[in-house]
Amino acid sequence: MLRNDQLDQWDRDNFFHPSTHLAEFARGNVPNRIVTGGQGCHIEDREGNKLLDAFAGLYCVNVGYGRKDIAEAIADQARELAYYHAYVGHGTEASITLSKMILDRAPKGMSKVYFGLSGSDANETNIKLVWYYNNILGRPEKKKIISRWRGYHGSGLMTGSLTGLELFHKKFDLPLTQVIHTEAPYYYRRDNLDLTPEQFTAHCAAELEALIEREGADTIAAFIGEPVLGTGGIVPPPPGYWEAIQAVLNKHDILLIADEVVTGFGRLGTMMGSDHYGLKPDLITIAKGLTSAYAPLSGSIVGDKMWKVLEQGTDENGPIGHGWTYSAHPIGAAAGVANLKLLDELNLVQNAGEVGAHFQKALHDALDAHPNVGEVRGEGMMAAVEFVADRDSRTFFDPSKKVGPSVAAALLSRGVIGRAMPQGDILGFAPPFCLTREEAEEVAGKTAEAVKEVLG
Ligand code: PLP
Repeated sequence: MLRNDQLDQWDRDNFFHPSTHLAEFARGNVPNRIVTGGQGCHIEDREGNKLLDAFAGLYCVNVGYGRKDIAEAIADQARELAYYHAYVGHGTEASITLSKMILDRAPKGMSKVYFGLSGSDANETNIKLVWYYNNILGRPEKKKIISRWRGYHGSGLMTGSLTGLELFHKKFDLPLTQVIHTEAPYYYRRDNLDLTPEQFTAHCAAELEALIEREGADTIAAFIGEPVLGTGGIVPPPPGYWEAIQAVLNKHDILLIADEVVTGFGRLGTMMGSDHYGLKPDLITIAKGLTSAYAPLSGSIVGDKMWKVLEQGTDENGPIGHGWTYSAHPIGAAAGVANLKLLDELNLVQNAGEVGAHFQKALHDALDAHPNVGEVRGEGMMAAVEFVADRDSRTFFDPSKKVGPSVAAALLSRGVIGRAMPQGDILGFAPPFCLTREEAEEVAGKTAEAVKEVLG
């Protein structure tokens, strides 16, 4: 086995890590962690640390680490048939079974599943399908996509444009011109502090409508949103938000893409976030929780209305010019089937709802009283703590103080992984669904200690 110092050197010399300060990492000023194993809600590293992963990797290891059923399904599939493509009608038992299992769990009105590998590529597919749809319908001008500030939809060219976070645009010449952003449904950060949550919902809907009218509804194809804002700050929507937004979209004949990469398959305590908030999407993006990240797999679930037009398109133009070599990869599909079975067998969606509620309460109990805690919020197994310099005037910290990352580091030193969200001083949590009540209390208690260490 390689020595740790040897691996460390190779890591810094050769490995281009995503979302990392490249120069500081190469210089050795940013720590690395070489992860070796995981069980339940914990991971282990080469230094022998055992950490409670309260972010489930990147909100993806939903069933928890070390699940033998999924590992065996992957191994069986690899031995039997590691790969065949899915072009021109090819498939495997795993990919066909998984399509059915997904549609059985999707909201009403969905028709088919296209498989990709990541949340980013699934959203890329969705935008292509939206453009194709409007071309087939003879509306070549109706192409712009509305996303929200603080939405997160990936980091490709189109998906990085849909993402509404500064870090993902700056110096990359993004967003592309076809993408426009509207107000984030982020009540705590509203400009007008006098608004009630209901008034803020009305304000978001009015902002959307004003944007559509400025641009012209005949130029706008679709609206994309996560049921609960994720990487933008883990923010559940204000009351009535999705109802109000969908009313505006329907009025202007604009498609709805629900990005359920984080919320899909149980994270809110319901199978899909769309069920949770009454969304009626035309397309749904799924990834992470589909396989609990045991293998890379994503999907675009296409609704009936769009599917009819896609069929019409291929009748008129021949086979659809879209596909990846690894679409519906058998190993990913086998992981997906085993993962969804495990969710059911262990009642993990219900656990996400029940222990999630306990976790939210434990966080409130441990943190609400601290003067620098502006808000504790969340839904199911998604939660966030937002820090402020002054609570009464809602004055945020200067970002250069790095309060969020400092609290995350103090928490890590206590053996718990939370995530400093990229924009704002926000500590995020998205634990595996197998979290116990005791583990939930441990995360909350250690967070309170970490906050005390950093902010007094
Ligand atoms: N959509 C949402 C809501 C996400 O949270 C993410 C990733 O965090 C993505 C899309 C992109 O997925 P991936 O990183 O697999 O490309």
